[in-house]
Amino acid sequence: MTSAVSHTATTHRRDDGDFAHHDATRQPIVVKKFGGTSVGGLDRIRNVARLVRAFKDEHPEKGVVVVVSAMAGETNRLVSLAKECVRNPNPRELDVLLATGELVSSALTAMALQEEGINARSFDGYLARISTDEQHTNAKIQSIDGALLRDLLDKGGVPVVAGFQGVTPSGDFTTLGRGGSDITAVAIASALSAEACYIYTDVEGIYSADPRVCPRVRRLERVSHEEMFELASLGAKVLHPRSVYFAMRYGVPLAVLSTFNPARKTWIVKESELMEKPVVTGVTYRLDDAKITVIGIPKGGHPLSVLFSKLAAADVFIDVITQSELGGDHMNVSFTVPGETAEQVAQMLDLLLPELGAREFVIDRDIAKVSIVGVGMRYHAGVASTAFEVLASHGISTMMISTSEIKLSVVIPRKFSDIAIRALHDAFVTIDPENAIEMAAER
Ligand code: ADP
Ligand code: ASP
Ligand code: MG
Repeated sequence: MTSAVSHTATTHRRDDGDFAHHDATRQPIVVKKFGGTSVGGLDRIRNVARLVRAFKDEHPEKGVVVVVSAMAGETNRLVSLAKECVRNPNPRELDVLLATGELVSSALTAMALQEEGINARSFDGYLARISTDEQHTNAKIQSIDGALLRDLLDKGGVPVVAGFQGVTPSGDFTTLGRGGSDITAVAIASALSAEACYIYTDVEGIYSADPRVCPRVRRLERVSHEEMFELASLGAKVLHPRSVYFAMRYGVPLAVLSTFNPARKTWIVKESELMEKPVVTGVTYRLDDAKITVIGIPKGGHPLSVLFSKLAAADVFIDVITQSELGGDHMNVSFTVPGETAEQVAQMLDLLLPELGAREFVIDRDIAKVSIVGVGMRYHAGVASTAFEVLASHGISTMMISTSEIKLSVVIPRKFSDIAIRALHDAFVTIDPENAIEMAAER
């Protein structure tokens, strides 16, 4: 049966203000993205094919686009292979290598769908016309031309798009950063004006904390875009933060659900659509940041602007910043950076210390950033004091603190991270029997 898909705007430009308007009328198309675990073996790929078959049987009027990740563990394996081969893999070649993970799963998924009698065809980043900038291993989508995808949809077929990849204007493969298949899915949903984008994974939606750390968590019916963006940016890898940004920016209805038990799901919605606004919606953490302290900076001049403008020019992402007086006219400045950029920052600081007149710098990788997030924090005072009391009662002292309207983050010694996450979760999150998820925590 042919799906009723109209040929409206085919090009979707990237965010950041220069978005070319596309037809805001939602089309009867759904995008279903399956993560690494969901396509982690041939049985699971066949299970995905059956799930899509069942959906098409139930909704013959709807077009379906499938987006797949690489099979579980494959991208890690490819990264290790490259690093075993050479110390510093060339980013262009690394992207060619990494893109193969999703090519394998897209081809296998298309075969399994064909076996179910579906006219499926795999699309790599080139065929799916996903254009990106040239920032290898962390490229940003510039535009998607959905014409070829629509052609197949119009014939009732199912495009199976390799997630996580795109192509530069000069035809080189790029990848979108780890976890980037989520971005592919939401960007395609936006480009096709799909009625919804479903992210199928190994959990039944968004929970109040990572179930691998907290054994009893609350499953959330709805989470606002802002909360989800903060949770994702602050470590909850269940969704890539840029996929949440795309969903918010372009109004793509977005849901997270389990491939293995798809009965329940979490919708990511506008804040105005939330039924309730608990003070804390979720607790999350990052273990892969590093804390850098520059010691003995003379206060005269504009040392902070010199330091941070150099780091910004090198595209280093800085998160929490603290400044402390040393007495006299010197100070220390600490800031956190993603761990993988710490080496680059160290090299820059080697050159910058004389310019700043600073004494030395130290890097501490043994840290965790634990955060609580909730739109309800806007309306409640005393969240920070409760959080500090909870941490203190477990003997945990904070090294750095950062807050915004809807989040509070603390940097603490890494060895306390699990205790801190569980203690904050216990203190702030209410779990009722109907929304409880119990799992054996993995550590
Ligand atoms: P996929 O391979 O399907 O993309 P990911 O491993 O990227 O899946 O994301 C799913 C995982 O995210 C879950 O297994 C869970 O451990 C983790 N996770 C972290 N925080 C949360 C949260 N708040 N809610 C649900 N899952 C979470
Ligand atoms: N395969 C890629 C990764 O492991 C992208 C993804 O799974 O979303 O990061
Ligand atoms: Mg993922």
